[in-house]
Amino acid sequence: MRVVSIPMRTRFRGVTVREAALVEGPEGWGEWSPFLEYDARVAEPWLRCAEEAAVGDWPAAVRDTVPVNVTVPAVDPATAHAIVTRGGCRTAKVKVAEPGQVLADDGARLEAVRDALGSDGRIRIDANGAWSVDDAVAAIGALDRAAGGLEYVEQPSPSVEDLAAVRRRVSVPIAADESIRRAEDPYRVRDLEAADVAVLKVQPLGGVRACLRIAEEIGLPVVVSSALETSVGIAAGVALAAALPELPYACGLATVQLLTDDVVADPLLPVDGALPVLRPVIDAGALDRVAAPSDRVAHWEARLAEVRALQQDGRS
Ligand SMILES: [Mg+2]
Repeated sequence: MRVVSIPMRTRFRGVTVREAALVEGPEGWGEWSPFLEYDARVAEPWLRCAEEAAVGDWPAAVRDTVPVNVTVPAVDPATAHAIVTRGGCRTAKVKVAEPGQVLADDGARLEAVRDALGSDGRIRIDANGAWSVDDAVAAIGALDRAAGGLEYVEQPSPSVEDLAAVRRRVSVPIAADESIRRAEDPYRVRDLEAADVAVLKVQPLGGVRACLRIAEEIGLPVVVSSALETSVGIAAGVALAAALPELPYACGLATVQLLTDDVVADPLLPVDGALPVLRPVIDAGALDRVAAPSDRVAHWEARLAEVRALQQDGRS
């Protein structure tokens, strides 16, 4: 196992330095990068995803490129405009409802993104469950106008029941993210008709094949998104997106550019709004360059031991 520590270009979901453990297996490397606040139980499916990658057990691809969105953090309008222009993607995912900001900040950011994308670009927003049902209904109406039309709104409110309630009161489609990957039962979203789109992330949901099963069962169009991985982890998300029978939306996998460095020679960055379907090759020099300090390596080794003990308990 190698532990890396890579500064973010912009603070994102409270993270300024991204730490990841890379595990090597017979068929290559897998990434295990549960966020630092996650306990062993939450971090366990993330490890299954890394192990699946390291043994090379991925389903066959049915396409050779994956369309992706540019991700816009909760930044000021000028920065948002520059990120979208630089990205070359035709779909933008914009973070909204950031603590310490107000709805007018989100509206101004969306106007800048629309200006950068032009009228035929697609804009989706992600509120990470920040709004009550009433606040969501009001905010979605205002932000749909500011954006000149929204493709969908991701996780406007925290619970599945809330999502279902919001969905019945707005015309913008609803995407479920936390309601799937943090839920005891991901299929309640389907049973309560709480969403139009399912956001799937391979690490929290236990790997590519586990996500493919969820995609089949949940009966909703899928958007594959990242958990801010290095290119090694992103490749697993790309493998899922490449294997899905249908892929009507751009995926949220163009997040390597939020990191200041990577562990491969050819990072998985979009070309003309799409990622190639391939396994990037680890670069030994890069691994050394971004190696985490020894106290952080010790932290991750202890974390790994805790998750392995949990897995042993589960099997015995
Ligand atoms: Mg999300």
